Amino acid sequence: MNRDEILFECAQKIKDDKDFDAKQEYQITDESGAVRWIQKKIVPLYEEDKYIEKIVVNLDVTEKKDLEKLAITDGLTGLYNRRYFDEISSREISRAVRAKSFLSLSIVDIDFFKQYNDSYGHDAGDKALISVANTIKKSAKRGGDFAFRIGGEEFAILFSDCDKEHSVKFIQKIVQNVQNLHIPHSNSKVDKYVTISAGVVVVDFQEENVDKDGFYTMADDALYQAKKTGRNRVVLYENDDLEFF
Ligand code: GH3
Ligand code: MG
Ligand code: MG
Repeated sequence: MNRDEILFECAQKIKDDKDFDAKQEYQITDESGAVRWIQKKIVPLYEEDKYIEKIVVNLDVTEKKDLEKLAITDGLTGLYNRRYFDEISSREISRAVRAKSFLSLSIVDIDFFKQYNDSYGHDAGDKALISVANTIKKSAKRGGDFAFRIGGEEFAILFSDCDKEHSVKFIQKIVQNVQNLHIPHSNSKVDKYVTISAGVVVVDFQEENVDKDGFYTMADDALYQAKKTGRNRVVLYENDDLEFF
């Protein structure tokens, strides 16, 4: 094989995404100002099993990246979607088990949202959903924070390395920030503005272990209590007891 043939074979392998040494992805801004994703691969070249040289290949993978992002994003709010929530909660639990660290989950639900839609219309409802999502997004901005829309007017926030006290404070701040948006809600029984309720569970993986479904159920139980005891509040799941804030 001549060098061109070898390179052609190599290009096929790269296209099939196999047989390369190292891969690195980074972003660039092209001449038009658009951000592109570049994948850099270091590819060993062989001729009949004999190593010849390594070449560096730069591939534009922007479209692939865009598609990947679309698959994990909620169309209305731009938060991560339910599918990604399932994937990330499993991954983060495994990580917390290995690191023996804290992992917290909050399930958040808008209060009296059916009444909101009934009073102001579905489009206004969508706008309110986007505002609440943006407030959550702005708050959950550390490296280990993830914010999802997991249902109609239901959100999840997954975050690491916070004990119970700090986890509750963090979510309380979000509850407060949503109320402070001052989105009028004349048919809410809890406030004159749109509010949210939140359940929180914090697991110290040094002491205990839970799986993804158990983790979710505990946060959801706490949310149920937050709804039952008045809404616009945070409830922390405490083994068999619940603490109210
Ligand atoms: P609670 O305080 O107990 O949570 O009461 P709620 O009215 O918020 O709860 P319920 O489950 O009865 O109603 C949820 C409402 O959320 C009903 C549905 O019309 C609305 N909703 C769900 N998804 C969307 C959406 O994408 N856009 C809009 N505008 N409304 C939505
Ligand atoms: Mg609701
Ligand atoms: Mg709901």
